Amino acid sequence: MPTDSTRPRDHLRVIVIGAGMSGVLAGIKLKEAGVDFAILEKADRLGGTWRENTYPGIACDVPSHFYSYSFALNPEWTRQFSPGVEIQAYFEGVAERFGVAEKIQYGKEVKRAAFEQGRWRLEMSDGSRDVGDFVIAATGVLHQPNYPDIAGLEEFEGAAFHSARWDHDVEMSSKRVAVIGTGSSAIQIVSALVDQVEKIELFQRTAQWVIPVANNVFTDEEMAEFRRNPDAMLAIRNDIARTYIDGFANVLVDAKNPVIQGIHAACEANLENSVKDPVLKEKLRPTYQAACKRLIMSNDFYAAIQNLNAEVVTEGIERAEKTGLRTKDGKLHELDVIVMATGFRVDQFVRPMTVIGRGGLALDDVWREGPFAYMAISVPEFPNFFMLQGPNGPVGNFSLIEVAELQVGYISGMLEKIRSGECREIAPSQAAMDRFDAERKEAAKSTIWATGCKSWYLDATGLPTAWPFTFDRFQEEMTAPRLEDYDLG
Ligand code: NAP
Repeated sequence: MPTDSTRPRDHLRVIVIGAGMSGVLAGIKLKEAGVDFAILEKADRLGGTWRENTYPGIACDVPSHFYSYSFALNPEWTRQFSPGVEIQAYFEGVAERFGVAEKIQYGKEVKRAAFEQGRWRLEMSDGSRDVGDFVIAATGVLHQPNYPDIAGLEEFEGAAFHSARWDHDVEMSSKRVAVIGTGSSAIQIVSALVDQVEKIELFQRTAQWVIPVANNVFTDEEMAEFRRNPDAMLAIRNDIARTYIDGFANVLVDAKNPVIQGIHAACEANLENSVKDPVLKEKLRPTYQAACKRLIMSNDFYAAIQNLNAEVVTEGIERAEKTGLRTKDGKLHELDVIVMATGFRVDQFVRPMTVIGRGGLALDDVWREGPFAYMAISVPEFPNFFMLQGPNGPVGNFSLIEVAELQVGYISGMLEKIRSGECREIAPSQAAMDRFDAERKEAAKSTIWATGCKSWYLDATGLPTAWPFTFDRFQEEMTAPRLEDYDLG
């Protein structure tokens, strides 16, 4: 005879926070499992990163047939690396097709989520409330823009905006444009804008290694074949996945892996062969190992930056003035537009939302010295609260869709334990958290990211925060949870 605490739960409500790629995926899987759920989205449209980043040239540098849900392959991708608008349309189409679009509540920014009397109680910025038994936080990684602290920026009379807040009302043609930063966003922007604008100045604090990658257009015949034979897409997807795992993801976690030398050599050869002017070549030459920072994949950046109207500025920015940016050498760079392609605040994750666990414990306090999560997914004392793309997950030149699918599979298993009545609360034990974190920190020291460059992979102490083990291990951990590491209450 089942006791009260082991009886299957007749009603269980799951709340998913965020309707980006991960939140939509969670919704699809919850719907398939017949679970009652809601997706709360702060904006007025789904899509996450792809809704927010609309800058010229935006594309995903993970091949499209790999950057697709495994169960919703898309024969309509136009290119090997498709542009942002296609990706946004893809997520909207899938959400519609799988019946989760109607489960998304827009304009619902969760301000506070607290675990009280065994349930999660949520408060939204519009004053509304909701209650759920289980929370899946799908709030993204690179979400809160990082604004550079430039003195006098408010005095600048032109337009100034972050790459993730592109102002489409600003006409770019015949303008003098500054792009600050040399990350993936900046490189795509420069390549896309160079032919439109009068002048483009790239303010580079750190040079980047660039690996050339062709972006082939799929022919009508290829697309027709994909429509006729989905297995052709699946074969491509599986091929790419294996290449990325063996040739990249598994390699980066061992700085001594000889494959990294090959990547470095390919980047050096690209710089050598693509940039003619020796002065520019040296400006663009990084002083660290390739792949230490996130590798830039581009076939057109070096050509773009050698255009007559393009310039690399390596002098630091002193301040902004009415008419432009003054660099530390005293030179005024006259400008109409300043684009801050300066990345994101990567220490935020679910924040600024306030999350309160057992006994009034605040996640902000737990994460005072930086965010962390057991297996990148959950935190002790925060029962029935699971994150997608949470801290210490595998990020960097890999399909985050693959990551999310594995994580959703893991979380579904945890949810099932509650649904079946095996337990009412589930959270990792402190001992498991401490063991995982110690092992993670030790492994992080021998990754490529720890070889002496500055990047968003590093925490405040300079230690890489990303998953420092192989991707194969991530797959294993996600498919076979270590239940002994959880407290089932
Ligand atoms: P990012 O890689 O963090 O690059 C930010 C850039 O801004 C860096 O060059 C940084 O210089 C510079 N910067 C930051 N603060 C500055 C300041 N105060 N003064 C001068 N320069 C400053 O950001 P991102 O380019 O937006 O890319 C972030 C991540 O998003 C990527 O790594 C990638 O994971 C993802 N992304 C992917 C794609 C894609 O195709 N899949 C496209 C875009 C972005 P330092 O290097 O000196 O720190």
